[in-house]
Amino acid sequence: PDKKVVDWKYATCGYCSTGCSIEVGLDKAGNAVTTRGVADAPVNKGKLCIKGLTEAAIFEAKGRGTDPLIRNHESEEWQKTDWDTAFDKTAAEFKRIQEKYGPDSVAVVSTGQILTEEFYTLGKLTRGLIGTNNYDGNTTLCMASAVSGYKRSFGSDGPPGCYDDFEHTNCLLAFGSNLPEQHPIIYWRLKEALEKRKFPIIVVDPRVTMFAQFADIHLPITPGTDLVLLNALAHVILKEQLEDRAYIEQSCNGAAEFGELVEEYNPEMAAEITGIDADMIRHVARLYANAGAAMSIWTMGINQSTHGSDGVCAINNLNLITGNIGKPGSTSLSITGQCNAMGTREWSSCSGLPGYRALENEEHRNEIGQFWNVDPEFFPKKRGMFMTDIFPAIERGEIKALWLVATNPMTSMPDTGRIRRIMEKLEFCVVQDAYEDVEANQYAHVFFPASVWAEKSGCFTNTERRVNIITPVKPPLANSKPDLWIFNQLAKRWDHAKKMSFPEDSAEVFEEMKWLSRGVQGNTNGPNGKPRMLNISGMTHEKILEQRGIQWPMAEGEETGTERLYTDGVFQYPDGKAKLLALPFNDNNEKPSAEFPFWLNSGRVVEHFHTRTRTGKVGNCNKFSPTPYMEINPDAAHQLGIENMEYVKLVSPRGDAVVMAQLTQRVPKDMVFIPFHYHDCVNRLSLGLLDPHSRQPAFKQAAVRVEKT
Ligand code: SF4
Repeated sequence: PDKKVVDWKYATCGYCSTGCSIEVGLDKAGNAVTTRGVADAPVNKGKLCIKGLTEAAIFEAKGRGTDPLIRNHESEEWQKTDWDTAFDKTAAEFKRIQEKYGPDSVAVVSTGQILTEEFYTLGKLTRGLIGTNNYDGNTTLCMASAVSGYKRSFGSDGPPGCYDDFEHTNCLLAFGSNLPEQHPIIYWRLKEALEKRKFPIIVVDPRVTMFAQFADIHLPITPGTDLVLLNALAHVILKEQLEDRAYIEQSCNGAAEFGELVEEYNPEMAAEITGIDADMIRHVARLYANAGAAMSIWTMGINQSTHGSDGVCAINNLNLITGNIGKPGSTSLSITGQCNAMGTREWSSCSGLPGYRALENEEHRNEIGQFWNVDPEFFPKKRGMFMTDIFPAIERGEIKALWLVATNPMTSMPDTGRIRRIMEKLEFCVVQDAYEDVEANQYAHVFFPASVWAEKSGCFTNTERRVNIITPVKPPLANSKPDLWIFNQLAKRWDHAKKMSFPEDSAEVFEEMKWLSRGVQGNTNGPNGKPRMLNISGMTHEKILEQRGIQWPMAEGEETGTERLYTDGVFQYPDGKAKLLALPFNDNNEKPSAEFPFWLNSGRVVEHFHTRTRTGKVGNCNKFSPTPYMEINPDAAHQLGIENMEYVKLVSPRGDAVVMAQLTQRVPKDMVFIPFHYHDCVNRLSLGLLDPHSRQPAFKQAAVRVEKT
């Protein structure tokens, strides 16, 4: 009442992938003054974390872009311009560069932050008009290994489980996931389940995170060795005949080769590599296999590694051999990062074509070509570069123009010193963001000021496949515009756009996506003749709002969505079977040495999201977590003569950074930890080695030394 709220408007939180339903309170003048959780929402049941609770502040936060900006060189001052001039210049530069250097010399890097209808439209523009194959999203930095692992194990992306599995499980195994700080409301759901029924929580993490403190068993693993632990858990399960043999025979291929491989990974051998006691490995394997219903979750501790995709497959292996997929409390659930990382995986065309279609598949190219009225021959026949390969291609001079949509590689990419030098090589760069002070804008020649999340309308998909809606809470600030409008207007600069459809209303775009999600799958996209798994044809914006989010699949005629995938033990490979994959551990991590004696670890703090373009400007988020810090073990600090709160210099083979030391037992003696959100900090030091399948960087396995300043 003290905020004088006269109206509440519905949205889905625009930060993490938990997908909380939120209401924004408006005063008489239409100002967003507060937020509250939506009591009847199935995800958060009225709760919000600090980021959601302070989200009203981001509408008019410092640094919001109000007008399109233009300049000829990054050394010049920005000039305000009108939208038409900004679009004309961008289209002319893209066309000039493509004519001179070839179609793939323009790259587009998008995000997990915009709305699904916007992703779909950006895909149509990029694949159907601009015609570059170098189109990817910043999800390569966070979820690419999960996508790749799901595809390799099950034949398709798509997390099989849901939050309700906490209510039914008898054992939870978490890898590299600090749930209380990363996904506070999912953590609250877990605690709620535990209040009703006790079951063991096992947390695998090299650091004593908040989640590790809360666990029944904490396994402080040597960084980068999860694959060895997972193979050893499978070894014990098979050795002691605790596996679900009937499930393996009915639903899996590859059992013999898998069995041979894990035979080598006995607990004693695994203990040497992982640092986890052999008897503890046996104990955890028995707990998991005998639980009846067991589930695994993971986040960046698995994904951000040179063998992130293999790690995800190994988690899937564990669940397949114990029959823990598709049943209540039995799942392998990737806890996604960004609010709409799932939407981009499903509909963006970054890695292929919309609706989990593949560029490599002729039938899929024809379907989309026909639907969009684009010659299918215009589409590339295999996917182009990942985000992490686009920057080296700029360095080599192969890519000359870059369009960044709501992403900030100057802070988020590994080895940001190198990224800075790479950005200087671009002939043309356009940045599209809600905030004009985003670091990447230093290198741009055109800036498109975009609306923030709840100044527009459309959907996000959360970690558990729940499609939820954002209604426009406020009109766009000043001359900023919804991303959908920006894509549509830019598309008009290509003649062929007249022959295609670019709907202005997000509900109409949603109807196109629904159409593409109907029908049966082709023979290279799942078992023949089965309805598409990614089916949203039964949803409408109205129904989604009414139900506060609906989990796909939901086919036409159905009243609500689907909690779990693969409940019938049939997967998305053509023969319907999942793959048990034999995954040898190849230790290619950068490791501590005499010159660089500490592991460098990174992660989130609860108050901040990504590179702080929003939370860095929100009073309470910034007040509680204003500056970067480095956690160091007190014994290691004393050896170096470092006091608590002293500023120290960290040095890696890539660069250096100055941070304040915080002495804590959270980290072992050979490790330091730094939150990743801050500019010019941990990613000046981090390593850009890539996973061979997902091309995701090994952010968490680098070596540094600590020096007194
Ligand atoms: Fe938003 Fe995630 Fe916090 Fe929920 S848990 S309020 S989705 S940031």
